[in-house]
Amino acid sequence: MLKHLIPKDDPKQALRLRRFFIASASYLMWMVLIVYCYYPGFIRLSKGWTALAFGMIILVNILFYILLRTGLNKRFSDPSLTMFQMTTAALFVMVAIYFTDEIRGIMLLAYIVTILFGIFRFTLGQYIRFTLFSVATYAFVILLLQINHPDKINFQIELLQLIIFASVLTWFSMLGNYLSGLREKLSLTNYNLKTALNTIQDLAIHDDLTQAYNRRHMYEELLREKALADRSGIIFSITLIDLDFFKQVNDTYGHLKGDDVLKHLIHSIGREIREIDSVSRYGGEEFLIIMGNTDIKGAEEGALRIKKAVENLKFPGFPESFAITISAGVTSYKPVEPVEKMIDRADKALYKAKAAGRNQVFVKHPE
Ligand code: GH3
Ligand code: MG
Ligand code: MG
Repeated sequence: MLKHLIPKDDPKQALRLRRFFIASASYLMWMVLIVYCYYPGFIRLSKGWTALAFGMIILVNILFYILLRTGLNKRFSDPSLTMFQMTTAALFVMVAIYFTDEIRGIMLLAYIVTILFGIFRFTLGQYIRFTLFSVATYAFVILLLQINHPDKINFQIELLQLIIFASVLTWFSMLGNYLSGLREKLSLTNYNLKTALNTIQDLAIHDDLTQAYNRRHMYEELLREKALADRSGIIFSITLIDLDFFKQVNDTYGHLKGDDVLKHLIHSIGREIREIDSVSRYGGEEFLIIMGNTDIKGAEEGALRIKKAVENLKFPGFPESFAITISAGVTSYKPVEPVEKMIDRADKALYKAKAAGRNQVFVKHPE
């Protein structure tokens, strides 16, 4: 039932609808109170007119509900329709206080109930406008009563009530403005925390220098792929790569320039692989590429393509003739072996590639 009245697919709309129902509940509360006021004779309005007023209230509420439920409210500059809803409520309150003589003072509380709806939403300007509007409607009621039913009011008392009413509303405006400020600060803090959390999460899984995934994340990925393969038979493969003669690069150009080579190389490999593949830093200048949903043949082709791309890669800040090669060991996963066994196989293939003269891709099938 509630699911249909307040759909959850749009959280903002759901919140607006919830606020609407709270407002409707307070309308209902005031309607019951007004009916109750009939018995001691506090209401000067005929039952027919009261029924008409109640009908209008119900109609207005249905209208607001339709606006919110159909999403038409989103076309307004303030989609929560707060000012609309509050202004309408204030007009009904105005009618109520016109027809309640002895209890007019206490009926002013309905204005307070109304203004509470805007307490977290309004800007100072909106509060001031609403306060002025409410005070003006009350002053209008006093004027009308002075003209139509001078016997029903004591002008001195009404004037005093108006001044107190205006002061209380002003105080509410200031409080509301303060609360709106707090709410804004809170959502800013929330936003900053979320951003910080994203950064921390990012730092926690990446290697500082190359921005490849770190070893911890690499194992997480391997275990995820292993679980998938063990469950559904979707096989994945890995390629372990090691830079050839990298010590020489450090010795010739210095360690910092060596770092630049690693950064540029990993960035370039990142562009060679598919979206679902990942590169992790396995050790110093050794990297592991995880190729999801790929058999050993596909992985070998991928590794050869990467090897070729690296061969032809230019490194900014290095002589034109400068080039890097890599050796690679390729293998695929065999259910349900431990991932360490698979890495060990890739390592053995890599060793063979090195022994065979480097700049080679070697494959080792699972037994
Ligand atoms: P090969 O692999 O072809 O046998 O020769 P190699 O010279 O590359 O030998 P090896 O793989 O054993 O050496 C790795 C070198 O990589 C040693 C180390 O100083 C260097 N290295 C490891 N990590 C980094 C790093 O983060 N930055 C830099 N600049 N160098 C690194
Ligand atoms: Mg090396
Ligand atoms: Mg090495």
